[in-house]
This record gives sequence, structure tokens and C-alpha cells, in this order.
Amino acid sequence: MEKHILVTNDDGILAPGLLALAQEMRKLGKVSILAPDRNWSGGGHVKTLDRALRVKEVRLADGSTGFASDGAPSDCVSLGVLGYFKEKVDLVVSGVNHGANLGHDVTYSGTVTAAMEAVIFDVPGIAVSLEIPEDHLDEMDYRPAAEAARAVVERVIANGLPPDILLNVNVPYLPADRLMGFLMTRQGLRVYHGRLDERVDPRGKPYYWIGGDAPTAIPERGTDVGALAEGYVSVTPLQLDLTAYRTLSDLNNWNLQEKNS
Ligand code: MN
Repeated sequence: MEKHILVTNDDGILAPGLLALAQEMRKLGKVSILAPDRNWSGGGHVKTLDRALRVKEVRLADGSTGFASDGAPSDCVSLGVLGYFKEKVDLVVSGVNHGANLGHDVTYSGTVTAAMEAVIFDVPGIAVSLEIPEDHLDEMDYRPAAEAARAVVERVIANGLPPDILLNVNVPYLPADRLMGFLMTRQGLRVYHGRLDERVDPRGKPYYWIGGDAPTAIPERGTDVGALAEGYVSVTPLQLDLTAYRTLSDLNNWNLQEKNS
């Protein structure tokens, strides 16, 4: 039976990466598009509970119809899998994001947390992000990344994913014929150079910017960062169970559980 694929993103309904992804996904099934009405990049995993969500119909650049909500990417996924489209959603694909989501980026990323939200509702989720080369000024071509996403999603449709697992796909910015292939990876490391800028407003009150230089990536082999550095598409399976099992047994040695000790 034809699959019903929900396509979303965190860059907003009019982002070119969303359209490129939707166009590729149409080759695999029926596509519905529901994405935020504005850019939510860095918005993380959100569940909007304190206000109503609105959805409006939007005409996309290729003439097709999408839907935009004033919620976060993860809200868009909730709306979609909980019945906005009446028809059951079989798969959620999020992207193609403007910029890679590597290492510790994943919980900040609206792109990745949209796929996490799908998994919470027992729907397979795949996040797709495209690396932006440094000092890149031209318009980005999202097609090679969308095509790479199609290859991954085809496998997910054929093989399924275990419960609690999502895929985080990152694509280096290369023409399709220069992509080296696919590597299954673990999360790598980006070193964040956080710095707090304190300034003073015209009324004499301090305000703050969380800033600093862009994170430095450690291109270790076997990791998402390493795969991109070598020109490969990186596919990282992520799990929502963040429990540190090895530490769990160490914590038992703290004997906190003994009463009156
Ligand atoms: Mn984004």
C-alpha cells in the first residue's frame, strides 16, 4: 500500500530544502507537508500546551499545497500524526535543513527533534540536514541531499526501524556525482566556544547575548563529523532512551537506596 509521508522542517514552510525533500518523497508515496510558518532553527524539542495552534494553507513554489502552523516543528509532527490529515501518517521526514546537525546539535535542532516527536508516536522519523560550506554565499542546491534522503527513506520503508529509533542523516555539500556514498556513524563531537556578551541598555540595565565563535568539529573516523569531512553521507541511528546504562550500575554503588545509612 502507498505510504503516507509527512514532510516537515524547522527552517519554515517556504524554505527551499523543504520543497526539494517533498519532491523526492513524492517518488516514494503520498506526501503531506506541514511545517512551521517561520524559522525555528535551534528551537529544540517543544510541545505547545498553553495556547491554541493555527494551521493555514500555503501555495509552495512548485504550485503544490503545504500547510503552515504557528507551532514548533515538533508541534507540526504532533498535529500531523494525531489526525490533522485524517489519513494515518506512516513516516515523518524532516528537512532538508540548512546546515548540518552533528554531535551535540541534536537536542537543539528543530529538524532532529521533529523526527524525535514522530518516534514518540511510534511513527518512524528521519531527519535530513545539509552541511553549509564555510563562506558559502550562493543559493544552495538541496537536490543531492534530497536524493540521498530518498535512498535512506526507501530502506526504512523496506526494512522498518525499531521502536524508539530515529535516523539523523547529514549530507556534505557536494554535487551528487562527488558524494562518496553512505556511512553508518555514531555521534561525533563539536566543541562549542560559548561566550557571554554582557551589554547595557539605554536605561542602564544589563542584557546578554549567548555568543562565541562557531563550534569546531572533531572529524574522528566513525562519527557523523568524520563522515562529512570525507565526503560521505552520514546516517546516525539515535535513540530517545538517553539512559547511561553503564553509569547506572556505578550509581548503585553510592548506596543512596539504603534507608537510614
Ligand atoms: Mn534549521
